[in-house]
Amino acid sequence: MALIVMKFGGTSVADIDRIKNVADHVKREHAAGNKVAVVVSAMAGRTNELVDLVNQATRMADEREYDAVVSSGEQVTSGLLTLCLQDKGVPARSWQGWQIPLQTDEAHGKARISDIIPDDMLTSLDEGNVAVIAGFQGIAPNGRISTLGRGGSDTSAVAIAAALGADLCDIYTDVDGVYTTDPRIVPKAQRLDKISYEEMLEMASLGAKVLQTRSVELAMTQNVRLAVRSSFDDPASVEAVNMQTNSHIGTLVCSEEEIVEQQIVSGIAYAKDEAKVTLVGLADQPGIAAKVFGPLAEANINVDMIVQNVSADGATTDMTFTVAEPDLDRALEVVQEHEDELKFKDLQGATNIVKISIIGVGMRSHAGVAADMFKELSEKGINILAISTSEIKISILIDAAYQELAVRSLHSLFGLDQDDH
Ligand code: ADP
Ligand code: ASP
Ligand code: MG
Repeated sequence: MALIVMKFGGTSVADIDRIKNVADHVKREHAAGNKVAVVVSAMAGRTNELVDLVNQATRMADEREYDAVVSSGEQVTSGLLTLCLQDKGVPARSWQGWQIPLQTDEAHGKARISDIIPDDMLTSLDEGNVAVIAGFQGIAPNGRISTLGRGGSDTSAVAIAAALGADLCDIYTDVDGVYTTDPRIVPKAQRLDKISYEEMLEMASLGAKVLQTRSVELAMTQNVRLAVRSSFDDPASVEAVNMQTNSHIGTLVCSEEEIVEQQIVSGIAYAKDEAKVTLVGLADQPGIAAKVFGPLAEANINVDMIVQNVSADGATTDMTFTVAEPDLDRALEVVQEHEDELKFKDLQGATNIVKISIIGVGMRSHAGVAADMFKELSEKGINILAISTSEIKISILIDAAYQELAVRSLHSLFGLDQDDH
């Protein structure tokens, strides 16, 4: 008998039929004698609709009321799944974030979990009930509902698994695991049996939305065994496989030591939600970078990649940097406000760019990976606008039109295509 957390994303609870299918998955685990806590997202597309409604109501939403509205999708699915479970004879009750309570800070819209008090839920689980938890939401110190940022149900699930001391946290989604890259872009992408926390963290933060970044961070620090698997498998056949092999289907996110055969590059991610700011003809003097980035930091705008080029006359420089797309207008405003000091000739903003990243712990011990990557891109005629690296990843910025070509070419180059094996 184990205590397991099962999380189901938006497409898995998109309509009543799918919710009934989810109920069968939950029933299977409960019938096997496990204590089961389930975390659900809102129905597919629902959170987008709610955000849209808020934007129609006002341009400058009070973030506490934003959270009151956008958290409601999960309330609906937690109730509906509970009803479907009860209908199948499985004792269950729903839990909203505030009822658990799942406590967060006051950063409405992107709150961080501060504490979970699991006692009441543990009592209910001990009594044989399935706990059906509304993901994505919690309660802030001001007593108001908070939300954990888009994709936040993954983080709810991992945090609850840690608080309950669960044996496993299964993230059920619309793909059957973590792939070498987004399988919707590269049909030759391969499912990974295992991926290390470090690599998954980079994949997620560099754009692979299969897991929210914070959920991976939490799983790593709290030592939660995290798996990604498909909710579309037939619950009955999953039971048969479980019994036969007693092993896990899907992808296990685990520590590096558990992975025997390590590739140099394990995966490729892309992120389209970046924007580029270019200052043309800045005076090339000491302190100029501080003058540009100081005010941006004060305005709480995160800068990702930075490139500085000395221009032909040697006296001025062009500076390009990237910010998250929603921050572009603010970033341009902030720079413009400092025009007198910076004395640039032109200021440009653009969103038609994409960041492509290759990720792998094997890069730590292999030289020449960057050179191979750049050569491949130049052979394909793809111009690199910016580069950034860390120990286990290389990111480049390119024109958005080349996204698919770049991801596919690099996927082949690093031997990740399915028919290479
Ligand atoms: P859910 O609604 O279940 O939370 P998401 O849409 O958030 O699901 O995440 C699943 C999606 O992530 C997949 O449909 C897939 O297109 C995308 N994805 C991006 N990169 C990867 C990857 N490397 N492996 C698997 N899926 C990926
Ligand atoms: N429903 C929320 C969203 O769409 C949370 C989640 O699905 O994880 O962002
Ligand atoms: Mg998700």
